[in-house]
Amino acid sequence: MPAPAVSQGPVTGTRYLVHGVFWDGQPASGPEYDGGAPAMRLQSPDGDIRQLSLHPGARLGFQVADPVRSCLGHIRVHSLARRDHVLCPAGAPAARGKQCERCFMLDESRLIHDFHRGGRVTPGLRDYLMQEHWLYVATFAGGSTKVGTASGPRKWNRLAEQGAAVARYVAHAQDGRVVRILEDLVTAEIGLTQQIRSSAKAEALLLPLPAAELDATNARRAGEVRSLLDRAAVEGFTVVDEPWLRPAQSEPLHGAGARHAYPHPLGSGRHGFNVAALTGSIALAGLDNTDAMFVVSLGQLSGTSITLGDYSSDVPAVQEALF
Ligand SMILES: [Zn+2]
Repeated sequence: MPAPAVSQGPVTGTRYLVHGVFWDGQPASGPEYDGGAPAMRLQSPDGDIRQLSLHPGARLGFQVADPVRSCLGHIRVHSLARRDHVLCPAGAPAARGKQCERCFMLDESRLIHDFHRGGRVTPGLRDYLMQEHWLYVATFAGGSTKVGTASGPRKWNRLAEQGAAVARYVAHAQDGRVVRILEDLVTAEIGLTQQIRSSAKAEALLLPLPAAELDATNARRAGEVRSLLDRAAVEGFTVVDEPWLRPAQSEPLHGAGARHAYPHPLGSGRHGFNVAALTGSIALAGLDNTDAMFVVSLGQLSGTSITLGDYSSDVPAVQEALF
């Protein structure tokens, strides 16, 4: 989704509510290019939204100010091109996922998933859903594979946000209703899941499978999906075979270099590290005073409040055990 209006960069010492990691920038233009301009979206106390860039080499230092998750507001879709992210007026605790009860009920993006089953939608949401969509098959670092959908403008970004190791587009659908009928068909007939937990993605990145093996898995599953779609009695789509281009700043996480699980819980305390690479919302972090690299799932910060500052994560005491 398009980023809300952004004023400036975040300020050290200010307390922010973390909305998560977003890849809203231009797609990677070639295999060796960074893409997506990933950033952590932060909400200031006066309701400004600020972006903390997570480019390679970016420094991320913060103290957890409140581990209790707050509501991240809700989405209102006005048209194909225009949607608002409405911040939670009450600043309420999150009760359902990342939202309070009220924002959960008001969130129009929730209705997207029922539209193809005959659910009712607002005119703005109908406008959004009637644009072209893509069906993709994505494989993650541990070899698990999912089927998913992306709207036309988010064709590349959706997969960058997921942190896929390798992915292929398998169908181009005329609208968001058709693409979700196809998605459900693939799950029912081939058994591909529509969701992979972020904790499983992070764990797999500690020891990613070789690239050739992941590509073979993805090619095989995508081939199965295309065969199924070739004989599907559904109108309004064409079968395609098109690779997704992984952004260069994700490469070190999917490569073979040694790395370890980040040794501190993100829900409390002070943290500071350099972002060496990023895939989805998972970072490869370099800590001060060690060459060891660590896998940090930044998505865990969503909904918590942090204060930015010049902090440095402790290197684990038994450092020898890491090597
Ligand atoms: Zn709320």
